[in-house]
Amino acid sequence: MKVLLIAPAWRKSTGNKTKTIFPPLHLATVAALTPPGVEVRILDESIEDIDFNARVDLVGITALTALAPRAYAIADEFRARGVPVVMGGMHASAMPEEALKHVDAVVVGEAEGQWPQLLEDFQAGRMKNVYRTEKRPSLAGLPVPRRDLLELDRYLIPHTVQTTRGCPFACSFCAVSQFFGRTFRHRPVEEVIREVASLPGRIVGFVDDNIIASKKYARELFRSLIPLRIHWFSQGSLDLADDEELLGLAAKSGCVGMFIGFESLVQQNLEKIGKRVNRVERFREAIKKIHRFGIAIEGAFIFGLDKDDPGVFKCTVNFARRCRLEVAQFSILTPLPGTKLYREMQEQGRITNRDWSQYNFARVVYEPLSMSAEKLQRGFEWAWRKFYSYPSILQRLGWWPRRHHGILWAINVQFRQRVWRYV
Ligand code: SF4
Repeated sequence: MKVLLIAPAWRKSTGNKTKTIFPPLHLATVAALTPPGVEVRILDESIEDIDFNARVDLVGITALTALAPRAYAIADEFRARGVPVVMGGMHASAMPEEALKHVDAVVVGEAEGQWPQLLEDFQAGRMKNVYRTEKRPSLAGLPVPRRDLLELDRYLIPHTVQTTRGCPFACSFCAVSQFFGRTFRHRPVEEVIREVASLPGRIVGFVDDNIIASKKYARELFRSLIPLRIHWFSQGSLDLADDEELLGLAAKSGCVGMFIGFESLVQQNLEKIGKRVNRVERFREAIKKIHRFGIAIEGAFIFGLDKDDPGVFKCTVNFARRCRLEVAQFSILTPLPGTKLYREMQEQGRITNRDWSQYNFARVVYEPLSMSAEKLQRGFEWAWRKFYSYPSILQRLGWWPRRHHGILWAINVQFRQRVWRYV
């Protein structure tokens, strides 16, 4: 039996010239859950075009909301050729009925437990429509992702590892706690260390939602990473700055940078979205502290929250520049299906666009409260261009040598190119 796992892409494949950022680790994880005897292949559409006439018995697709229309189009093509299709991931888990109009079965929630069962049922000719994960799977003893099925040299950051799942916070716009639950689960440290040590590269991206959600676990993990002498980056909440011991261990274990969600400079906005871990009056001090440990920050900010007026763009960009954030990511508030924000906006009748392809954090798909949709769209684009202008990059990073200076310049220039191409 042959199974083809597909990661749909935003744009046409890059051919064999350019690289894309991350490999589809989630599909390599699903491949590792596939029983021996089943031949499995991974196709990342961002680097390779799909051959719809390929001889396969079953296709598996996963997609976030913005890629759901593309995933459905791929599924329709395969099914028209008589090949059954299964879909999983965050969007299909939030909208299983919608997905079932295009696919034969949906895996709701995490794949562990469900995927092997689905394959067994498929081979026995009794595949169900819905496979639902009732109990959050333990992360102990997970099989190592099948990286041998990925073309790792086609990615800028080829080595990614997951250590934890879930987040104890429940920000209303975020799909993480909806999908993984508010419980925070982690892999045994020794299993993570074994996996990291087996990677040929020295730069590792930990693709966690909040790697410091359990400080105790993070301390143990960082301590064990020190002897491996790697450079790593991940995502975490701002309360990292409250714990100097943890910061010291992160730096010592090779932490280059952290992606941190500041979200808003208006406390009322933070209260409204439930991001209580963030206190605006402590932002500057926290940033200074993290920087003192030589850790760069990629700050994430959302535009279009209910208290955001047209002054939000300038205020946010000035803040990010003054605090010399090495990287920033601005997004437009997006009510992803399955989130509390989606339910609230739905009840208030504020959703204006249901074309999922526009749910890419760069388009206004709802009615903002304190400015027009047009102003929000233009302000968002202005913020990206202003922050990634050369004077801004130079002011934030400077010419002088500092820790990871070359990498940070390269990332900023990459972002700048993307901004000028797409925004
Ligand atoms: S802290 Fe981050 S990962 Fe956790 S719920 Fe909020 S936005 Fe999501």
